[in-house]
Formats: sequence, C-alpha cells, structure tokens
Amino acid sequence: MTPPAPSQPAPDAPVVTRFAPSPTGYLHIGGARTALFNWLYARGRGGRFLLRIEDTDRARSTPEATAAILEGLTWLGLDWDGEPISQAGRADRHAEVAREMLAAGTAYPCYTPADEIAAWREAHPNQVFQSPWRDADPATRPDAPYAIRLRAPREGVTVIHDAVQGDVTFRNDQLDDMILLRSDGTPTYMHAVVVDDHDMGVTHIIRGDDHLTNAARQAQVYAANGWALPVFAHIPLIHGTDGKKLSKRHGAVGLHEFAAMGYPPAAMRNYLARLGWSHGDDELFSDAEAQAWFDLDGIGKAPARLDFKKLEHVSSHHIAQMDDAALLAEIAAFRQATGAPALTPRQTERLTPALGVLKAKARTLPQLMEQAHFALVDRPVARDDKAQAGLDAVSDGILPELTAALQHVNWNRDDLEAAAQRIAEAHGVGLGKIAAGLRAALAGRSSTPSVFDMMLALGREESLARLADAAS
Ligand code: GLU
Repeated sequence: MTPPAPSQPAPDAPVVTRFAPSPTGYLHIGGARTALFNWLYARGRGGRFLLRIEDTDRARSTPEATAAILEGLTWLGLDWDGEPISQAGRADRHAEVAREMLAAGTAYPCYTPADEIAAWREAHPNQVFQSPWRDADPATRPDAPYAIRLRAPREGVTVIHDAVQGDVTFRNDQLDDMILLRSDGTPTYMHAVVVDDHDMGVTHIIRGDDHLTNAARQAQVYAANGWALPVFAHIPLIHGTDGKKLSKRHGAVGLHEFAAMGYPPAAMRNYLARLGWSHGDDELFSDAEAQAWFDLDGIGKAPARLDFKKLEHVSSHHIAQMDDAALLAEIAAFRQATGAPALTPRQTERLTPALGVLKAKARTLPQLMEQAHFALVDRPVARDDKAQAGLDAVSDGILPELTAALQHVNWNRDDLEAAAQRIAEAHGVGLGKIAAGLRAALAGRSSTPSVFDMMLALGREESLARLADAAS
C-alpha cells in the first residue's frame, strides 16, 4: 500500500491545536513548553487551543494530577478554549469508531488471547506479531471475545512529513496490526488519540519527539478512516545543562518549582518559547511578539538545554518592564502562593514608590521582596547583627547629627546626598560608613537598596522617625 496521503489541512483552514497531558503527576517543564508552543501557534493565527486530559490509564491518572496541570497552565497564562476534554469519558466513541472500522473491513476481530500473544512474543523477540485472524475465513470465527485490530498495510512504508523532523519513514512490515479495542471493550490509547484529535478537529499536533513512532501508527488509523492527517511537529525534548535528558537530577523540572522560585509567568513564557524555538537573535519579547513570530519553521532539531542564567536574564527583563500595578499583582499572587501574608495598605504605600528602583535590579520576585524588606517592616525596625554593627559605628554623634541635618533639607536625592556628604566630611569618614548606619536605621539590614532610594520611598516623616528610633 502507498503511504497515507499527506492530505493536510487547507492553508486557510482555521488552526486547531491541543495539549494532551497524561495526568500522572505535576506539569513538567517540557509539558509546559509543549502547551506553550501549541498555544502560541493557535493564538498567533486566530485559531483554537484545546485541552484534552489523557486519563485512560485509570490506575495512574488522578484528579489531583489533573488539577495540578490545569493550575500550572493557568499560572503560566495559557488559556484554552472550551472545557477540558476527558479522554476516558469518550470511551464509547472510541469503541464506536473501532466497530465502524470492523464493519468497513479496515479492522478485523482477533481471537488470539493476550497471554498466547505474550508467550509468542517472548519466544520471538525480534519479530512482529501477525494475527492468524487477519485473513481467516469469517465463517471460522468463534463465538468468543475478540480484540479489534487495525488491518494495517503489510508492505511499503508509512512516511510522516514532520514539520520539524522532516520526512520520517517507517517500514510497514515493522509495525504490527495494532489493537484498537481490547477484548474487554476498552479502547487502546493509540486509537483514542486519533479519534479524539479527529473529532476535535485538530489541524496541528505539536508534541515531544518521544511520540514520533506513535505518529506512524496513528497515521495508519487516519488513513484507514479516510481522515485528513493533521500537521505533525515533533519537538526535541529538553535537556539539562550537561546535555542529558532533563530529569530530577538537574534540579527543578516541575513548572510549580519555577513558580516557587519567583520567575514571573511572562518571563517563563518568554524563556520557554526560546527553549527550542528561535526567531533570529530575539531573546526578549512580549506575548504579542511571540504570537506573531511563532512558527514551526523556527523550531530546532537539536534538543534545547535548560539554562538558568538565561532564565534569570529573561526574568529580570520582564520584571523591569512591568508597570507598577502589574508588578504589585504579581507580588500579591506570589505571596499568596507561597503562604506569605498579603501586603497591608501601609506596606503597599511604602513599597509602591520603591518599585522603580527595586524592579531595575531583581532577577526574581523573592529577590525583589528581599530588597523590599525596608518597605515592609514597621517601626521600631528590628536590626540584624551586621546592621547593628554598622549602626554602632556611627552612634558617636554622627547619626544624631545627620538626623538633625535631615530635618531641614529638601527631600530630594541631591539634597539628601549633599547632607550626608557634609557630615561625612565633617567627621572625616567615608560615605559608606554613614550609609551602613542609615541602612541599619532604615531597614535593619546591611543589604538594601541605596539609602537615598529608601529615604525617598519612605518619605521624610517615616525616615526621620526610623533614624530617631535608632539614635535613641
Ligand atoms: N498524553 C501524552 C503525553 O502526556 C501526549 C500525547 C499526544 O500529545 O499525542 O505525553
């Protein structure tokens, strides 16, 4: 038989993509990237992005895992169209198609019991099982349970015209007549996928290249039914920094772990889009740009490597260019997710004027919050040991003098700096020594944003009150 016709969707057909996770755990970073690619492809073309939960493995699929996947996608900002579809809930439809294929002769009943096939396979490790029932006279069929098998082509080849991998050829004599419906009436996963993708009108299947071999078998089911084949794009899996397949060994692999590290979703979208896809030299981009640019041609054939340095770079860019309202919302979501109390109105009021300074330096949200400590604490400000040492070094009159001087300056950076400079010179000490005392008084810590930035954000009254607290 000739390979299934590469009948692909008409170029102007509306694009429909899907993400089809098996709910057996958390959302892996690789799965998140697959979802993102499908989302970008559909959203950039006015198409639809569907979600199908492949929960046919009842023993391994859990509602908690499904919830975790939906939560992960939601966190990442990938919205899907319509309700998520449960594959298990469509078992009747899968069986119906198998029976239609049986009636049409593109499938046949196989009465060989599973244990017999297993024993045969064990005795013939390198051979493809061929059911004796394929060409048996229908009159000889017993009245017994049977599996429905695809009548797959025996000769020739099946070619997958993959948008990433190019043409991939499979010899048909290496592929057995796969089971569509087991003798207990349950559909096989491979059959269910094809029926679902067909019924959902999926035009483009973008998924990990660990499914490439499946594509050959799936293409045979499309061909047997005379259904148009979707475009396949099998993307290389993500590797760790050492070039080996990403695993727990490399550290974080769950999307939730990246969320907990405080990378904003917009940064993760940008970073994951670049993981295996490129648009010239563009590293930093918005969703609108990614949607406009994303194309299957830009997906690389070589596995991309996870690179935390790059991720931090992308993250700092996105944090820096977020407007204050968006950043505050991001901070609120992060605090909620990590169990930190919501910011009080007073904290938000002190934090807001500092955001410009903070966001220019932070690579992650926890880093930003660390530097924002001075804006979150209330008086009297508790000091750590290092800060206390810095304070002790200026308690011999320097700090009280500075506090007095600051009562009268205009509350702007130049005048604040000039006042600190004057006192430093008068006492023959460096500005650093004075700054250490100010940090201790204002933030109770030794690592903070610039003391002038803190004073400007806190305002005259609060700053002077903190200095007075420290001097007393
Ligand atoms: N459920 C499969 C997985 O989680 C994906 C199948 C597909 O995309 O066709 O790997």
